[in-house]
Amino acid sequence: MALYDYACAGCGPFELRRPMAQAGDPAGCPGCGGPATRQYGAPAVSRIAAPLRAAMEADRRSAHEPARVTRTAGSGAPHHHPHGPSRPWMLGH
Ligand SMILES: [Zn+2]
Repeated sequence: MALYDYACAGCGPFELRRPMAQAGDPAGCPGCGGPATRQYGAPAVSRIAAPLRAAMEADRRSAHEPARVTRTAGSGAPHHHPHGPSRPWMLGH
């Protein structure tokens, strides 16, 4: 007997202990009794990877962020004074 991962279309992934000979056969979902197909290591990985992937998503998002973050942070420092009307009459004295 070995533990295999199956996934029901309606209920999601679940684990089932079966003889290796039946590992490839569709299993009955314990939740709804419907057919569940074997997941070749995917659920176990995705179960671990879900938070990891979320972290990676956040990482990927923050990787795009710096350009905006540094820009907003930097925009505060250098004050861009729009060139106002230079008063030529003031230069003469
Ligand atoms: Zn089900």
